[in-house]
Amino acid sequence: MVKEGVWIGIDLGGTWVRVVLSDEKGRFIAKTSEKVDKRSAKAVSGQMIRLVRFLCRKHGCDVSSVVGAGIAATGPLDQKEGALIHPTAIKFDYVPLTVPFSEELGVPSYLINDAAGAVLGEKVFGSAKGLDNLAYITISTGIGCGAVVNGTLLLGKDGNAHEVGHLVIDCEGRLTCGCGKRGHWEAYCSGSNIPNFVWMRLKDMPQKAAKQSLLLKRTDGDLSRLVASDLFAAAKQADSISMELVEEIGRLNAIGFANVINAYDPSLITVGGTVTLKNKRAVLSPIKRHVRDYVINRIPEIMVTPLGDDVGLYGAVAAAMTYL
Ligand SMILES: [Zn+2]
Repeated sequence: MVKEGVWIGIDLGGTWVRVVLSDEKGRFIAKTSEKVDKRSAKAVSGQMIRLVRFLCRKHGCDVSSVVGAGIAATGPLDQKEGALIHPTAIKFDYVPLTVPFSEELGVPSYLINDAAGAVLGEKVFGSAKGLDNLAYITISTGIGCGAVVNGTLLLGKDGNAHEVGHLVIDCEGRLTCGCGKRGHWEAYCSGSNIPNFVWMRLKDMPQKAAKQSLLLKRTDGDLSRLVASDLFAAAKQADSISMELVEEIGRLNAIGFANVINAYDPSLITVGGTVTLKNKRAVLSPIKRHVRDYVINRIPEIMVTPLGDDVGLYGAVAAAMTYL
């Protein structure tokens, strides 16, 4: 039984931190968000504390009455310490979260990888209620995954059992990942790396055709300005090169999805993250078309998360309710 009262969910991403007050049924009472304060490692928890106090004051809720808080964050984590260790998006070696948060507010808190939290959110509040085998995959600035297998959320020794963005999908290692290694899934298909993939493929193409692509028009002739949304927008306008590249990215995503399916054998995969949510059909359709070429296990249902942008917040709340 979940304890009645107000719960807090915090979704700490690479760019935004979002905070929600929720009741024990996962009904959101109030939400707020800000760009992450990256001035110092300490500033990150300081900002969370300030946002929680602000939301509680605004909604007449005494902070000391809050039952518990879940913090869902992009890793890597040291889950026992409640801290981030060399996080990719916040450039400090060690970012303590749960200790300063709980000491300052007197509220127990629990840290979880954001994609692991999201799959738990899906199981507790989303489309996966009652399912014992499910996975959540986020395609956003990076790529991550959470998996529940036989009813158990997989966490790993430090809480980092979800770094599927760094699964190898290209043994030739044509592109280098942000982590420094070659051939990783997110080096090709994450929001921040799609431009690298496009540049690489355009170099291989007949230059005349490449020059006629809408991608050049969208970037005023300067492809170094290309962002992932330009590719999806040009594909939507039936630009043939862009459509071809979106399909190729879909095939690479299908390899990543197949690896997840072969490893965890889920009945359902829900998919979120900005790249997915902004381009639902362009992302999901090619995955569904190609995944059968790479799996041995029975193919699960694959759908966009019904929790949308809030999946991280639901995950944080679900983690607090489950583990505190
Ligand atoms: Zn990597």
